[in-house]
Amino acid sequence: MDPSLSIEKLRNVGPRNISKLSRLGIRTVKDLLRHFPIRYEDYTEIIPIDRAEPGQKVNIQGEVLKISSRHIFPRRMSVTNAIVSDSSGAIKVVWFNQPYIENQLTEGTLVSLAGKVSLNKNGLYLSSPAYERIGSNIDSQTIGLKHTSGLVPVYPETEGVTSKYLRFLIKPLIKDIALTDPLPESILSKYNFPDISKALSEIHFPKNLQSAETAKDRFAFEDLLLFQIKALLERRKMNQLKSISIPFNQELIQGFIAQLPFSLTTDQKIAAWEILKDIQKSYPMNRLLEGDVGSGKTVVALIAAYQIAKRGHQTALMIPTEVLARQHYKTIALLFKDASVHTALLTGSESKLDGQPVTKKILKEGIASGQIQIIIGTHAVIQKDVSFDKLALVVIDEQHRFGIHQRKALLSNSELRITNSGPGSNTKSEIRNPLIPHLLSMTATPIPRTLALTIYGDLDISLIKEKPKDRQKIITKIVGPKERRDAYQFVRNEVKKGRQVFVVCPRIEISDPKKEIKVDNKRSKMNILWQEVKAVEEEYRKLSEEVFPDLKVAMLHGKLKPKEKNGVMDKFKNGEYDIVVSTSVIEVGVDIPNASIMMIESAERFGLAQLHQFRGRVGRGAHQSYCLLLSSSAEKSVNQRLKALVECDDGFDLAEKDMKIRGPGEFFGVKQSGLPDLAMASLANVELIKKARLEARLLLKEDSSLKNYPLLRERLESFQKLTHFE
Ligand code: ADP
Ligand code: MG
Repeated sequence: MDPSLSIEKLRNVGPRNISKLSRLGIRTVKDLLRHFPIRYEDYTEIIPIDRAEPGQKVNIQGEVLKISSRHIFPRRMSVTNAIVSDSSGAIKVVWFNQPYIENQLTEGTLVSLAGKVSLNKNGLYLSSPAYERIGSNIDSQTIGLKHTSGLVPVYPETEGVTSKYLRFLIKPLIKDIALTDPLPESILSKYNFPDISKALSEIHFPKNLQSAETAKDRFAFEDLLLFQIKALLERRKMNQLKSISIPFNQELIQGFIAQLPFSLTTDQKIAAWEILKDIQKSYPMNRLLEGDVGSGKTVVALIAAYQIAKRGHQTALMIPTEVLARQHYKTIALLFKDASVHTALLTGSESKLDGQPVTKKILKEGIASGQIQIIIGTHAVIQKDVSFDKLALVVIDEQHRFGIHQRKALLSNSELRITNSGPGSNTKSEIRNPLIPHLLSMTATPIPRTLALTIYGDLDISLIKEKPKDRQKIITKIVGPKERRDAYQFVRNEVKKGRQVFVVCPRIEISDPKKEIKVDNKRSKMNILWQEVKAVEEEYRKLSEEVFPDLKVAMLHGKLKPKEKNGVMDKFKNGEYDIVVSTSVIEVGVDIPNASIMMIESAERFGLAQLHQFRGRVGRGAHQSYCLLLSSSAEKSVNQRLKALVECDDGFDLAEKDMKIRGPGEFFGVKQSGLPDLAMASLANVELIKKARLEARLLLKEDSSLKNYPLLRERLESFQKLTHFE
């Protein structure tokens, strides 16, 4: 049988099942075979009936002594009762609403049953167990069982597609189909991976859990390998593009660093050096700068921007929100005073040149003529009517807000290609050979190393782990329901001392994950937004009217217009408010040095990494700062998780912990990456990822277009199709 055969050709797949199966992404026989179990029910041991205990999940094999069905009319249901016996004893069995079982398991039939043993006043019984008829010789027939014996696979299901149905479809295929292995023989033997046929058989119907694990590793490796190959090819593509090469003038940079109001940390220096080296190349840099909130990423980007400006080229800094863009603009004004470098702020509602308000028209002309070298703004900057003269570097701050696909769009955005590549060039040749700006993304979301290597495999990464010396430690406390009043009192005292407070409202979750898939994305997002607005309004009302009627409380949420948000943040910064209540989506990097308390409601609903980010919003001034994690749960395990935050203030360590606790799927970019589930689950497996990286390199080195590996190439293409819609 051809593995690419459509499932409709299978004998046991009816027209109604086709659409149901396609909901699980199953369209061909191959898809079916690659629909892997999420776990196994352990029925490896046949339990003699007299040894069955209540609560135990057992496989019992024996003979049907009696069976009968009856209807219970008022409740419109049927009950089938049976008695099954083996050499050790007999047990009652009951099924509901499956009257046909009576005809399948007639008296005298040998049957294999798997299910949970229950106990009622009449003794032990099996309730709705899975069942299979077995031939006359029990021992020799056990091998043919797929639902009730051995390690029984449990699959991701959907309405109308049960694990039982999937087992029923998959089991016969495993024997029938001879798949060609996409992995080269040499790799299989090097790592002791089973070949595809063995691996398929062992992942679906394993002999033991160990062999299932090995099979899983093998498939995860395959996907990780493809992912790495994809990343390497992506890189190669980038390296063939052309960018402006900006020579690194060490004296200039030393001078710049010397005039800063602080001395750089070693990590900042290394990161800046890496970036300056990158932009010296004539192909585009694609680098991620990772560092905790407050680690000082902006100045690192600025060093590169300064070098570029002094060569007469331009840098665009893209900031996710207007509030943050304005803050960056102010910071930058403080960090250097070189009158020959002109800076602009461009957002939806503001336009400034060298600190002074100007019209948008003037600003855009200044950008187009090259007179302005550093442009800071929101995505207003990449609007069509803004054209650059010599854009050499694009910096994206908090890139996860922009998303991976926007990053790619940005790179392919023709508006950002430099239209003036020097004297003598004409428009046509430029389009054929456009200059691509260097790209630097900055994020305060620490990404566990294994994730970074896989999901962001096409990026170079600079890390700032070290914090500036003057940073104080933030005191973090878990506040249980009983301590809430004390916490409020504490807040009041701090406000009396002149401090300010952030309150973050609980994250709103869609409770039913199935619905999330059905509701189209935009609408469910809007829905969440509205719910969050409601939550903020409620919290605002509570705090301003009941808890702190004497204090000045303001609120901030995603439904406010940028101008209104700016207004609130400005007033907060000026000390006109004591407390700002906001949603979780609010600006990550906002700098309010006088704010010393971060209070997070229902903290248990957030991931550690995000909580750590919230915490980073305080502790920016001279005052001792606090992070209060309000937990409505008295559960120990919940607070155990929050405790990690109390004990640890390293974002990278917390990210690793977070990944272990919640799994990689919760991390930004992972779900969007198109990485199949199995590989995703392996993202914590450093060894496997290292192997995949190594082999991807070796394969491409030996055969750069994978022409000797048609199956790998084919899978790679379907991968790329998947991730294209990121
Ligand atoms: P983030 O990494 O969160 O973007 P910023 O770049 O906004 O951090 O820096 C936070 C603050 O720290 C800014 O006011 C910045 O000027 C300051 N800063 C940056 N580097 C240092 C340093 N090495 N020493 C002291 N302060 C620094
Ligand atoms: Mg920042």
